[in-house]
Amino acid sequence: MLFGTMAAFAAFGYLLGRNEKQLLRANRRLDEMALTDALTGLRNTRYFWSRLAEEHAGQERGEAPLAIILFDIDHFKAVNDRYGHPAGDEVLAMVGNVFERSARHRETAARVGGEEFALLLPGQDGPRAVEAAERIRKVIEGRTVFAPDSGEVIRVTVSAGVASTADESELSSEELYAAADRALYAAKEAGRNRVVLADGASHPAR
Ligand code: GH3
Ligand code: MG
Ligand code: MG
Repeated sequence: MLFGTMAAFAAFGYLLGRNEKQLLRANRRLDEMALTDALTGLRNTRYFWSRLAEEHAGQERGEAPLAIILFDIDHFKAVNDRYGHPAGDEVLAMVGNVFERSARHRETAARVGGEEFALLLPGQDGPRAVEAAERIRKVIEGRTVFAPDSGEVIRVTVSAGVASTADESELSSEELYAAADRALYAAKEAGRNRVVLADGASHPAR
């Protein structure tokens, strides 16, 4: 009798332990999902800003500078209009894949808008971040995506804006982001498919 009761408790404890593990795993996946963009698998805006805050605090303590690159796909609306929304999603997944592969240790690649992406580069000054942005711009320029419906070949380009605290260490994280955004706007104005550094130095595509 006693043995039976003990066995029942042991079995109950075992099941409880197993459920707890499953619950922990499920919670971890939920946490992960809350910080991940479903379409590209990249980190989302929320995660990007939390990493930006962390790295910015380090920079304020006198650690290495940090740079932000903001990318925006050129004429992306035209891709959707011409090839359909699912084709646009394929393009986003391709761009996401390029970012995923280009982010190195401690760097964060995130999708921060519909067709906007950000890269956080701890320890990088403006010119080095521009080099990184140029590499990515060229890779994307060379990629092709096939439209799911028609099989047509789609090519896209991206414009990028770069800002680093190495150039202006007084910038808050919001100001740094805004500076990169202004540089991105300048890249669009200058004809797209190019990288612009926040201090105005432009790196033409060709
Ligand atoms: P620009 O070169 O100035 O950036 O022009 P653009 O057409 O890329 O910019 P605009 O902001 O006019 O258009 C962005 C488009 O991105 C419009 C919107 O429908 C599309 N978009 C946003 N999110 C998604 C998405 O998740 N999937 C698809 N397929 N399209 C999206
Ligand atoms: Mg945009
Ligand atoms: Mg765009």
